[in-house]
Amino acid sequence: MKVPLLDLSRQHAQLRKEIERAIRRVIDEGAFCGGPFVEEFETRFAAFCGAKYAIGVGSGTSALWMSLRGLDVGPGDSVITVPNTFIATAEAISMTGATPVFIDIDPQTHTMDPRKLEQAITPQTKAIIPVHLYGHPADMAAIMQIARAHGIPVVEDACQAHGALHREQIAGAMGTAGCFSFYPSKNLGAFGEAGAILTSDEALCERLRACRNHGQTQRDCHSMVGWNGRMDGIQAAVLTTKLRHLPEFIQGRRNCAERYNKGLADTGGVICPAESPHVRHVYHVYAIRTPERKALISELTAAGIGCRVHYPMPIHLQPAYASLGYGLGAFPVAEQASREILSLPIYPEMPHSHLRHVVDVVNQHAANHPGYRGDHSDD
Ligand SMILES: *Cc1c(COP(=O)(O)O)cnc(C)c1O
Repeated sequence: MKVPLLDLSRQHAQLRKEIERAIRRVIDEGAFCGGPFVEEFETRFAAFCGAKYAIGVGSGTSALWMSLRGLDVGPGDSVITVPNTFIATAEAISMTGATPVFIDIDPQTHTMDPRKLEQAITPQTKAIIPVHLYGHPADMAAIMQIARAHGIPVVEDACQAHGALHREQIAGAMGTAGCFSFYPSKNLGAFGEAGAILTSDEALCERLRACRNHGQTQRDCHSMVGWNGRMDGIQAAVLTTKLRHLPEFIQGRRNCAERYNKGLADTGGVICPAESPHVRHVYHVYAIRTPERKALISELTAAGIGCRVHYPMPIHLQPAYASLGYGLGAFPVAEQASREILSLPIYPEMPHSHLRHVVDVVNQHAANHPGYRGDHSDD
């Protein structure tokens, strides 16, 4: 049996007719860059998330960069984020000319540890970017409280967390701005590159709309240095179609996670992902932890099961960021996690038989390895 990490073809087979109809409308109306289909998606996505405005852009990376530009972050400033995220979070900071400052994570949720935040704030701090990693919201109540006390805007990296909840609020709609990626493999995926920014701040929204369109506020009048960061019409039409099904997609992922949690509960050798109280995790990634990752990867691979590590090298240890001078040992919780995490296959349409096969192989592994039963030193 072959069990892929992700199989988009199952979702697209179900939605093919609906999506083809939507794409045909874009072709018929010739609304390829920006335009009515993008506006329709923006309205619907903002409403879905409970934010006033959504700004459709070209990618999640672009969304992060533009949010910082919109908040006037630039050279000489610093932005606090976490080291265990996709490199784009840090790149967006660097591309504004500002410096990324990392803080360690909570060992249970793998998201920004609010207890580390206050001591990292300096007069140079111009923004904070918590990452809702794997689809589990960061502790936004605590983060927002500290940020407000210091008057620092918060940009949520919600690129993995479409529809996730923290205390009844939707990820991406809690901070000053929230950034989404619609890369095809994300929980809400386009047929190419796309992203969006949420905000309820009207002035920021105006700046962001200008920024994604070369800083243009009126025809041929450019009030700021922007970029080409527009969303395209075909992506917007695909996304509007898929957004109608997002609640089902989320439920499908949560059902898979529940089956994994039950199936692996007695294993002992691995740790299943945590879901904090007052949180709805949307499981973009189902990441277990095992001290014997290398062995488990070869056993899964031998059994035809796809798996991956998100992410094996924290950003402060990447060659691209060597100049920041952090080095090994700077963030022990994130570093330890990077050695033990392993992402198992998960997607809304994943067949039960596939999931059972994964559970069997992981349980077999745990039976042969002491795992955490022999080592409770960490967490
Ligand atoms: C995917 C992702 C991004 C970047 O989004 P793109 O659309 O690929 O540019 C940024 N941050 C996180 C956490 C992501 O998962």
